[in-house]
Amino acid sequence: MSHINARRSSVLLIYTGGTIGMVRNQETGALESFNFDLLLEQVPELKRFDCRISTHTFNPPIDSSDMMPGHWEKLVRIIDTNYQFFDGFVILHGTDTMAYTASALSFMLEDLGKPVILTGSQLPMGMLRTDGKENLITAIEIASAQRPDGSPMVPEVCIYFKEKLMRGNRTTKINAEQFNAFRSFNYPELATAGINIQYNEYFIRRPNPLKSMKAHFKVDTNVMVLTLFPGIQQAMVHTLLHQTGLKAVVLRTFGAGNAPQIPWLKEELTEARRKGIVLVNITQCQAGSVHMGLYETSLPLLDAGLVSGYDSTPECAITKLMFLLGQGLPAEEIRVKMDSDIAGEITKPASAETAQ
Ligand code: ASP
Repeated sequence: MSHINARRSSVLLIYTGGTIGMVRNQETGALESFNFDLLLEQVPELKRFDCRISTHTFNPPIDSSDMMPGHWEKLVRIIDTNYQFFDGFVILHGTDTMAYTASALSFMLEDLGKPVILTGSQLPMGMLRTDGKENLITAIEIASAQRPDGSPMVPEVCIYFKEKLMRGNRTTKINAEQFNAFRSFNYPELATAGINIQYNEYFIRRPNPLKSMKAHFKVDTNVMVLTLFPGIQQAMVHTLLHQTGLKAVVLRTFGAGNAPQIPWLKEELTEARRKGIVLVNITQCQAGSVHMGLYETSLPLLDAGLVSGYDSTPECAITKLMFLLGQGLPAEEIRVKMDSDIAGEITKPASAETAQ
């Protein structure tokens, strides 16, 4: 770990890789990761921060397509070990799977009381038009921002990208071309950065002062995603639902949580549920929520015992299941937790709250 400067509040900058730290290989033309110190040389502004910035780098840095649950565990360990020494954490990460990492960390860092801000860029730091500089500098500013009483401004796992601060487990990558690469469709932005950083304090989660952060290191990846489409075949669904080791399925349905009314689909799902597989219904729509029972076409799913994923992103539903399975919880308890908001990841309609 190296120290860039030493003053007031403190931020640990963790570099995992991604475009932000890449250079083009002259022979192959492909973008490859390069040394973190060279990356930092591109941002002399870091020395002007009124806070202590320390750094930790993955060796070697990775493209985020190679990011695995073991890397999430590594990030949790770094944050847990350094938790008391820093006011906030910034994670430099490739954009491709950033929403998965942010979602996973939001569950693995239970009762988080400090900011963990993920950011990256669409253009490498060494390029003239890079978006990396602004993203990095503002992410550090947010990670070190405090309220007048000295408490952290945003004690959450977030993604900061192109002037927007979003709750990590609400975020999806929506663009492989423009700088505006992330969106939080179902939850308001936590802050916007213009001339000033405007925090939407009402929407920011506040930690329970009686609880301290609890790090979880284990996840269980026996999860699959099944996307429905017109013409889907029974044999293929059957094969998927009979995979050895399968413990949970995220079913991506139509609209408000609807499915084709073909008898075999209900039978396959009922059988899977009977075997103890947790089935979660999320919508293929980017915005809006599952509402089973609203349309006749969702009734078979309700009968088959699917749990509503409400307005969850796919990244969030998958990582939440991995996290809950990793706790070794029985299927029924996982179903209850999938139906509950545990890290600000879903909004349950008032009717669902009272039905509990
Ligand atoms: N492939 C890169 C990554 O996710 C893309 C990026 O960083 O924007 O690591």
